[in-house]
Amino acid sequence: MTITPLMPVYPRCGVRPVRGEGVYLYGEDGQQYLDFASGIAVNALGHGHPHLVKAIADQAATLMHMSNLYGSPQGEHLAQRLVDATFADTVFFTNSGAEAVECAIKTARRYHCAEGRPERNTLITFNNAFHGRTLGTISATNQPKMRDGFEPLLPGFRYAPFNDLDAALALIDETTAGFLVEPIQGEGGLMAGTDAFLQGLRKVCDEQGLLLVLDEVQCGYGRTGKFFAHELYGITPDIMAVAKGIGAGFPLGACLATERAAKGMVAGTHGSTYGGNPLAMAAGEAVLDVLMGDGFLDHVTAMGERLRASLEQMIPNHDHLFQEVRGRGLMLGLKLKSDSRRFVAHCRDHHGLLTVAAGDNVVRILPPLVIDESHVAEFTQKLSEAARVYVPVADD
Ligand SMILES: *Cc1c(COP(=O)(O)O)cnc(C)c1O
Repeated sequence: MTITPLMPVYPRCGVRPVRGEGVYLYGEDGQQYLDFASGIAVNALGHGHPHLVKAIADQAATLMHMSNLYGSPQGEHLAQRLVDATFADTVFFTNSGAEAVECAIKTARRYHCAEGRPERNTLITFNNAFHGRTLGTISATNQPKMRDGFEPLLPGFRYAPFNDLDAALALIDETTAGFLVEPIQGEGGLMAGTDAFLQGLRKVCDEQGLLLVLDEVQCGYGRTGKFFAHELYGITPDIMAVAKGIGAGFPLGACLATERAAKGMVAGTHGSTYGGNPLAMAAGEAVLDVLMGDGFLDHVTAMGERLRASLEQMIPNHDHLFQEVRGRGLMLGLKLKSDSRRFVAHCRDHHGLLTVAAGDNVVRILPPLVIDESHVAEFTQKLSEAARVYVPVADD
């Protein structure tokens, strides 16, 4: 037998964290890492945040799981807080991002069905998008590396180049339900949608009765310095998928929708055994307490500006390697002139610095949102030392 007990679908690296404390991780061997990856934008409060830890521990001892057959005071309370803080009128809780996107896709299809236009079942999505790994969500992306060998995929998606409004509009026909888009692409290479692109999609949705479905699984929940990234663009979606930071490490996701867009989601149309269980709700409440705390989002914006300025200053000193800085708030990307995966490994293995590679040779910089100036300074020092000694491979 050569297959490993853990199904070998991840090319795992040698770092094996067993403990976390604030912005630091510790490996089996006691090695310390500065964590500017946050479990890929998940650990928004860092590791071991006392308010989150206590909320989970207390709720685990009180009531951990309850079926959605019963009333949910815990779910009602968190849903109300999200409704009060966003465009949405209603929330479905999930356990992951892909499930949140699945719910968003179902909600969009069902809306047009309820409107008497069941032929409007196709979502226009975008090149280099990432929406998750279920059959539905890999069908929503046209990246071959995620789709190959899993056919037949789910019909009902068409693909346009990201940030190309005209190309997206040209795909609209009588089968179009709307658009599914990440306002800022994460995996795809930290590409922010332009104002014209996202505002243009919103406008055509309003004009033609289509739905704007946003995937804010990575860019949402304070990551950009706004509660949700669409606020940066002055638009609101009809439906939105959320996860990652919403549980800050506890598996939790959500699909938010307006009353109109959720028109078709009546009793019996959707469900989840674990979705919205009391333990997840306690985690979600604790995260929201911190995020909605006085000045928290302003702190994210301030740290994001400081980090971006440090990165921009570094570019001229390492212009054989670094090309540009992308992103907003603490969702930043450093575009390299050579393979970003290899540089991410170098930072990790030789400088105790964790970042994440993304498409288009981008190094994703996704620190916990609770970092302070000292962490920015430590990061900057480690990254410039890493860049100084790094030798890019010529044919990368
Ligand atoms: C991570 C991610 C997902 C999938 O979330 P999972 O929790 O892994 O299912 C979906 N969309 C975006 C934009 C993501 O970054």
